Amino acid sequence: MITYFDYHSSKPVDQRVIDAMQPYFREHYGNPSSLHMIGDRATRVLEQSRLSVAEFLGAEKDEIIFTSGATESNNLALIGYAMRNRSKGDHIILSEIEHISIHNIAKYLEKQGFSVSRIPVDQYGQVSVKKLAARIQDKTILVSINYANNEIGTLQSIAEIGMLCRERNIVFHSDAVAAQGLVPLDVRRDNIDLMTISSNDMYGPKGTGALFVRSGVKLQPIIIGGGQERGLRSGTENMPGIVGMAKAAEIARQDMAGDVKRLTAYRDTLIKEILQRIPRAYLNGHPVMRLPNNAHFRFDGIEGEALLLSLKDAGHAVSTGSACSSKTLEPSHTLIALGLLHEEAHGSLQLTCGRFTREEEIAKIINDLPEVVQRLRKLSPLYKEED
Ligand code: PMP
Repeated sequence: MITYFDYHSSKPVDQRVIDAMQPYFREHYGNPSSLHMIGDRATRVLEQSRLSVAEFLGAEKDEIIFTSGATESNNLALIGYAMRNRSKGDHIILSEIEHISIHNIAKYLEKQGFSVSRIPVDQYGQVSVKKLAARIQDKTILVSINYANNEIGTLQSIAEIGMLCRERNIVFHSDAVAAQGLVPLDVRRDNIDLMTISSNDMYGPKGTGALFVRSGVKLQPIIIGGGQERGLRSGTENMPGIVGMAKAAEIARQDMAGDVKRLTAYRDTLIKEILQRIPRAYLNGHPVMRLPNNAHFRFDGIEGEALLLSLKDAGHAVSTGSACSSKTLEPSHTLIALGLLHEEAHGSLQLTCGRFTREEEIAKIINDLPEVVQRLRKLSPLYKEED
């Protein structure tokens, strides 16, 4: 039996989504930019899909721009806003535990002459709203804070941050990819101006995403062409992808309560059993303010890669951190930001569950993990049994 605990990096597409997408490959192949009846039909479907995604976020239909995924949405949000609004100021604030795409976009903007402040987080990965407020300057135009962290699952005080930004007249962007489908999102309640979501993170197809752009917020496009998506994202719309994303959003709204209940039970069992069965094991991230599907541990004397490979041999697909950064040998910037030492960060294990996780998978990892950790510790020159 193979288990899968890497839902943060990839999710299978829900069969209901595949069924909804199917006709848009051959049967309904129209281009929304065509003026004939086949194009008209595509336009109606595009706008219906936009409405479904808007309703998922508590937004208006015309505030949704379809993109190729969360990376592009983050680029459009940050580069698009910064470049268009440079005359208002050139200072941007983010947290130290943003997704690598946000960090790399921020570095790019620094090269373009913007200044960027990176707010430290506490030991659980939460941004202090007070610290954030203290970094705001007259020239601050944009704050970007993730809704929930994609590695450790810590939820941020988004409503408070939104309120602060609104009071100070600063545009607030949030990357909600890790949280979507697990936390009810509402851009109006939380005073969010720009929000990134992706299709695959709610069991839709990869290669499709969206950016919520509050009415009145002006962006400069980063992809120039035929003027689709209100001129903000040119290129023929990926209709099967968009229809799939919309269906995924509708299902996420219907199924969220049930998904969250089941996932919370799995998460709590994983945390309780693993901390109980393995000595010198610790939970990374917040004990309460965390995503319902995320359990993230570190084990003294263990090297994460060796743990991952041993678990792979035992039939478990797990992760040591973000798949987006797995090609670097650097420890996770998120774990370092929590104040962990390099060896602690390297000894971490991320288990994320999802809609299709089964109870047998939870039982199997709980059963196998203690033995694997014990075996690796015996081989480790770093690990000494305590007296
Ligand atoms: N933001 C977050 C929080 C993510 O976890 C990811 C990766 N799933 C991205 C952005 C980038 O998404 P994509 O690779 O689909 O562009």
